[in-house]
Amino acid sequence: MSANQTRRTLCKSGAVFMMLPIMTVCSPAHATINAELRDKLKYQTSPKNGNSCTSCLEFNPGAADQKKGTCKVIPGDDEISAQGYCDAWNTM
Ligand code: SF4
Repeated sequence: MSANQTRRTLCKSGAVFMMLPIMTVCSPAHATINAELRDKLKYQTSPKNGNSCTSCLEFNPGAADQKKGTCKVIPGDDEISAQGYCDAWNTM
């Protein structure tokens, strides 16, 4: 291996090493789903009898995407559909 190849190899590995923190910071956030509580509350991604998460007091629409949000009753889940529904639907 020549000195040029060694330097090039080091530069490449250094560039990859330097990119890791940037890639970590720039990668999209992972969606989380609380499958256990969804099952218990019979959550579904479609309305039921004309009722949906949009009209439920427990729903918090997402800041960037209003079609998905969070629910006060299903913590740890940021994939609640605005068109979804569950047994805890609440308007009071
Ligand atoms: Fe949707 Fe049920 Fe949460 Fe209401 S309680 S926002 S219906 S998942």
